[in-house]
Amino acid sequence: MVKIGIIGGSGLDNPTILLNAREINVNTPYGKPSSSLKVGNINDVDVVLLARHGRDHSIMPSNVNNQANIWALKEQGCTHILASTACGSLREEIKPGDLVFIDQFIDRTTKRKKTFYEKDRVCHIPMAEPFCDKLRNVLADAAKELGLRFHKEGTIITIEGPRFSTKAESKLFRTWDADVINMSTVPEVVLAREAGICYAAVAMATDYDCWRESTEAVTWEEIVKTFTKNAENVIQLFLKAMMMIRQEECKCREDIKTAVVGGQEIGAKKEFDLHSTIRTVPHWPKQGIMFRDITTLLQNPEAFRYSIEKLKERYSGKNINKIAGIESRGFIFGAALAYELGLPFVLIRKKGKLPYETISQEYALEYGTDKIEIHKDALEKWDTILIVDDLLATGGTCLAACQLVEKLGASVEGTAFVVNLPELKGTERLKNYKPFFLVEFQGG
Ligand SMILES: [Zn+2]
Repeated sequence: MVKIGIIGGSGLDNPTILLNAREINVNTPYGKPSSSLKVGNINDVDVVLLARHGRDHSIMPSNVNNQANIWALKEQGCTHILASTACGSLREEIKPGDLVFIDQFIDRTTKRKKTFYEKDRVCHIPMAEPFCDKLRNVLADAAKELGLRFHKEGTIITIEGPRFSTKAESKLFRTWDADVINMSTVPEVVLAREAGICYAAVAMATDYDCWRESTEAVTWEEIVKTFTKNAENVIQLFLKAMMMIRQEECKCREDIKTAVVGGQEIGAKKEFDLHSTIRTVPHWPKQGIMFRDITTLLQNPEAFRYSIEKLKERYSGKNINKIAGIESRGFIFGAALAYELGLPFVLIRKKGKLPYETISQEYALEYGTDKIEIHKDALEKWDTILIVDDLLATGGTCLAACQLVEKLGASVEGTAFVVNLPELKGTERLKNYKPFFLVEFQGG
């Protein structure tokens, strides 16, 4: 299925355009992307919107976390990326307001991370044709239908910035056959190719850079003026183009499969032995009990990340809008998962721990009973909840947690654990609540 990541294109998040909109905050192995992601549909096409320089345009070009941006779109399942960028024109015939569908770049950046393959593996990704041909054709067809002024190809030179070019540089770049100049296309396009995503960029000329003697030197004010005047054209172009994009085989997605020297492409899942990171403490807290101790897992950052990644993989994109953790170790895994999925986190605690109005649910212990509680205003009737705890034994506490959620009128979409002790048959007890776990230990 086609899913389009849009970088730039501010205006598309207008609620009359972007339907079923959700805003999510994500994290990636490369850090946080430039902005939250706005996810939804435009004319029945799934889209993910990202602001390259932050929603308040506060991130300067050298500091854009391109790795995190592309990775975040990849994780959302984007098959295509449409990027928009302002650029300076190095050609008389590319007038301010013109759109250029660039097909080549010259890289004059110096400070940026240009690959996902920084350690362990080397990746020589082919870059003879950096931009997706098919997407570029779609853009040209759409622009033609809309009657926009456009150039079907062009070479962009990306400079480090933040300063603009000198006249000498600007003239030099013209002799290199560069057509337009900006500060943002590289390495965005390179990382998209490494991620196996079809990528096309629409460069909107805002000025004549500084090579052209007859015009005034470029100023930020002039750029913003031209950009604002023509931004609507880019929005209309994206709206038209995204309906014409088809899911089809493309070379952009194939190159990476053979580009990594002696190894797998990044993102290919590496299995991790979680089992061995959990310590067993015999006869604790009493004779005959084999205690499965997750503190050793938590002290191993790779193991902790792997656990959260595994849970994220399973629950990402599912019909869940809140995560509830059960005291106390359920907070650790539940909170980390909620953070990763950009979802609210709700606490289910032992009796007497929550400060505001609560409701409670009783459950049986070996001898006697206990109670767990939740804040009355923590859930709404339409909420769908994932309940998280570290360990599934008899399932008594978790079952009570499910009942607590239902008492507030919300529904339980699933229950997730790191460890399952199958002999205690917790999964049977929770069979109506889709129990899922990462590892099992035989023996109580
Ligand atoms: Zn492609």
